[in-house]
Amino acid sequence: MKEKLQRFMAGRYGADQLSRVYLGITLIFLVISMFTRFMPFYWVALVLLIYTYYRMFSKNISKMYAQNQRFLNARYRRVAKWDAFKKRWAQRREYRFFKCPTCKQRVRVPKGKGKICITCPRCHHDFIKRS
Ligand SMILES: [Zn+2]
Repeated sequence: MKEKLQRFMAGRYGADQLSRVYLGITLIFLVISMFTRFMPFYWVALVLLIYTYYRMFSKNISKMYAQNQRFLNARYRRVAKWDAFKKRWAQRREYRFFKCPTCKQRVRVPKGKGKICITCPRCHHDFIKRS
């Protein structure tokens, strides 16, 4: 039986981080549909489950790999953004943060210095802000 499964999965994509997330969402939708008896949730869960298995059994490995990479990149960007926000939040008493009006680079300046001219470290554009 195990050998049969191994032979079946040979050359197929298998599970990845994206399919794990899809399975988690499927489970959440199933639980919601169980408690609310709201059928659309059930159908969404079923479609998602079928799609997840389609991805796992797919022989188009490069396409599935690319999908997973896009998912991982998006997740990484979100985590990095959140970490940057936490860092700014921790420093909010000593510093103020501005975005450069031309290149959108974030600039940190000490708080309580009055009106100051800020030179963007990336594009050297000057702009005036109250710190
Ligand atoms: Zn700039």
